[in-house]
Order: sequence, then structure tokens, then C-alpha cells
Amino acid sequence: MRNVRCPICGTAVLWGSQSKFRPFCSERCRQIDLGAWASDGYCVPGAGSDDCLADDFNEMSPESATPRE
Ligand SMILES: [Zn+2]
Repeated sequence: MRNVRCPICGTAVLWGSQSKFRPFCSERCRQIDLGAWASDGYCVPGAGSDDCLADDFNEMSPESATPRE
């Protein structure tokens, strides 16, 4: 049976149908890897993205955005 290394923690994982999270050793490591790429595409408060900050300011000041009425 072939072994692979979990890319997150380096644990040896059997490359077979019994290792359903392969190439990760567990669902936890798989989630960590998903979060690593997902955070690039999502607006994370405090992440330091200028686009995210601009969106937040628009959301927090609705009065100045709609002066009529
Ligand atoms: Zn792992």
C-alpha cells in the first residue's frame, strides 16, 4: 500500500479508499487547506485589503449615500 504525506502536518496517510480525506490525514487538515485558499477570495475583516475597507465604509454610512428624501 502506498503512503503519502499530509501536506498540512506531514503525517503519513495511506493512499487508499479508507483514507477518505487524502491527501490529508484528517478532515481538520483538509479544512485548514481549504481555508488557506478561500481566504484569498473572501473579504476578511482586518485582513488589510483596501477593497474590503472601502466596502465596509459604504455599508456603515447609508445616510451620506442617499441624501434625497
Ligand atoms: Zn494532517
